[in-house]
Amino acid sequence: MAKIIDGKKIAAETRADIAERAKGFTESHGYAPGLAVIIVGEDPASQVYVRNKKKACEDVGFYSQVYEMAAETTMEQLLARIEELKNDPKIHGILVQLPLPKHLDEKAVIAAIPPEKDVDAFHLLNTGKIMLGEYSFLPCTPAGVMKMLEHEQISVSGKECVVVGRSNIVGKPMAMLLLHTNGTVTICHSRTKDLAEVTRRADILVVAIGKADFITGDMVKDGAVVIDVGMNRRADGKLTGDVDFASVEPKASAITPVPGGVGPMTITMLLENTLTAAVEAAQK
Ligand code: NAP
Repeated sequence: MAKIIDGKKIAAETRADIAERAKGFTESHGYAPGLAVIIVGEDPASQVYVRNKKKACEDVGFYSQVYEMAAETTMEQLLARIEELKNDPKIHGILVQLPLPKHLDEKAVIAAIPPEKDVDAFHLLNTGKIMLGEYSFLPCTPAGVMKMLEHEQISVSGKECVVVGRSNIVGKPMAMLLLHTNGTVTICHSRTKDLAEVTRRADILVVAIGKADFITGDMVKDGAVVIDVGMNRRADGKLTGDVDFASVEPKASAITPVPGGVGPMTITMLLENTLTAAVEAAQK
């Protein structure tokens, strides 16, 4: 039987620690760490994510501001809003909720966020720093996975680590972080030949592909640590991961559930990044 890695519990402990540090920061500086979230349009999933981020900020004593912009917002209007926030001393982190409506240029928007306020760590400068292993911020989901491994005292050093998925926000930075902690890392994607042959080599298997219950027990080595980043909606509306929990759990030594695994860690790491941004801004 695998140990179930309880993301909710680890997130709650981490948030309590962030709240404590935020309190100390606020007392010594006279202002709280601040996060601005910009949402363009009315995508219902994005609205839920943004609400959750605002509530998470309030719970740890941060200042937060949500800017809801109409779906027809122009690039000029969006860039002007970012410019305003860039110069706002109350705001230490700026997050633009993705995806943006099609007529807006996502890359240009991310490039307009000052790197020191880029708490999603999507800016080119922050992305480059991840390659070098010299970072202030890490993308929230891979950072959350590393925090979970650390919390569970699962050492990465010398382990065969397989990451399935190569997106810029999860798979690639995830692989870099495992490499920086001395894992032997393989990245798989949709063109990987004989995926099961590769995943069966993994001591630590991280899956981020967006396909419900895709990784099955026969694709996993006995005793592997399995981290399921996937978040998929089944036809019945239930949330499920990329890993078929029923067949994988009996083979794994530790596994994250969905829901209640990686998900709660992602916003937690956004809070951590915002606090880091505030601390670094105060030191300037
Ligand atoms: P993405 O940008 O769609 O990337 C998916 C990756 O999976 C791609 O690299 C793709 O390969 C690969 N892939 C797709 N089908 C595959 C297959 N059959 N075999 C091997 N690789 C395959 O997705 P993402 O943004 O990284 O997100 C992945 C999942 O994580 C989604 O379910 C998303 O909702 C979830 N997610 C969760 C959190 C959280 O907080 N828990 C945060 C972010 C994302 P190619 O590059 O070859 O196309």
